[in-house]
Amino acid sequence: MTEPNISISPAVRSPALKKVHIETWGCQMNAADSERMLALLAKQSYELTSSVDEADLVLLNTCHIREKAKHKVLSRLGVLKEIKERRPGMTIAVAGCVAQAEGARLIKAAPQIDILVGPGKIDELPRLLSEHDTSGKRAQAIGFHRHPPALPLSTASAAAVAPPTLSGKREVSRYVNIQQGCNNYCTFCVVPFTRGRELSRSAGDILAECTALVAAGAREVTLLGQNVNSYGSDLADQPSFASLLRAATALPGLERLRFTTSNPHDFTEELAALFATQPRLGRYLHLPVQSGSDPVLLRMQRKVTVASYLERLAWLRQAVPDIALSTDLIVGFPGETDEEFADTMRLVEQVRYGFAFMFKYSPRKNTPAGRYTNQVDEKVKEERLAQLMQLQDKITGEIHAAEVGQTRPVLFHYESNKNPGQFYGRTEHFRLVRVASTVPLTGQVHQVRITSGNKVGLLGELV
Ligand code: SAM
Repeated sequence: MTEPNISISPAVRSPALKKVHIETWGCQMNAADSERMLALLAKQSYELTSSVDEADLVLLNTCHIREKAKHKVLSRLGVLKEIKERRPGMTIAVAGCVAQAEGARLIKAAPQIDILVGPGKIDELPRLLSEHDTSGKRAQAIGFHRHPPALPLSTASAAAVAPPTLSGKREVSRYVNIQQGCNNYCTFCVVPFTRGRELSRSAGDILAECTALVAAGAREVTLLGQNVNSYGSDLADQPSFASLLRAATALPGLERLRFTTSNPHDFTEELAALFATQPRLGRYLHLPVQSGSDPVLLRMQRKVTVASYLERLAWLRQAVPDIALSTDLIVGFPGETDEEFADTMRLVEQVRYGFAFMFKYSPRKNTPAGRYTNQVDEKVKEERLAQLMQLQDKITGEIHAAEVGQTRPVLFHYESNKNPGQFYGRTEHFRLVRVASTVPLTGQVHQVRITSGNKVGLLGELV
């Protein structure tokens, strides 16, 4: 699931000699990777700056999931080129999935790049920096570590410290990577090619990092992986994801534990039942369906049917009757007919997701679907996306309106920078709530009475 650009506030303070400016595109996994790179750079006496103009190092952590994302990176590199012409000492580094997938092509299009580092090799960033500093030449590391699991996964906890945050907004709710890569090979998706095969991190390492984050002030942790359900199958002792969840929910001081992404095909009844017995898991799950049409799901190679997906929702609703759900949806997958799209609209109406990430299908090089000849016309994709978004906005608005008058426990994540005294938090159903308060609320859980709601979120007051 994707998030908007992560804004940056100076969160690392050390006797710094140099400044790094980090821009992060794409999913939570990228946000977590940026924090790990920041942790590595902090050890090299870099501190974070929000200003490109004062940065010694500008690091773009890129996303390749859709074509548009690459174009954004290239246009940003164009702007950086002009800055670098004025300040030749500035180092430009490109990390993330565009670096991995486009490598040589990217350098050809943007020779101003000094460092190129793929998501499977971010532990090599300090070496690349010193190589570039010494030689003045471009340094690069792309590709993947083989077993044992890649170092970037364990960098932070190995040092037994919580990695720094990119933004003050993220100090209460932190990400912890539990695996990298993906073995699912959905026909639309580049992830197995840009992030490699699944590699799980040891449970001990994961729990140590969670503990360090809680000690540093986190109250909520989101465990991250491309398909968290298959966590552990590559480790010698083969721990299950359910066993990891049980151990993590028992950590003292942790208020809430979330996880994403859970691929429905191997989401089990055991995992669903955990929501009933582990209140710290909250009352919310992101379960990407992609389409409401069986033939499309088959062509996507999602390994579920609409009926088996709905069966998983029934398990969840048995555990928590009012569980809130969100999903990812793709419109205009190759060959999608009007009727198949109508099936997706019907599913959305039936499930009533709290929110959804909705995308136009974007053909990706090296993926089977990118080579399908029955691509859907761009205009049709746009119309379908608009229709779907309109429906989802209506449902989200209705769900939020129905919250008015309810009293909910809210974990407050941050205070608005622009409007001090306005605090933002989330309910157990993962609904965003804004509350005005003259006393600080960040990091605390309070009962909040919901006073109004629209398609964006909820307004409330402390009770
Ligand atoms: N691993 C997760 C899963 O399998 O559910 C998804 C990871 S992906 C980073 C996030 C979302 O991007 C996907 O769920 C899908 O909806 C969307 N996505 C991936 N490839 C896409 C493509 N080629 N075109 C449009 N959307 C895409």
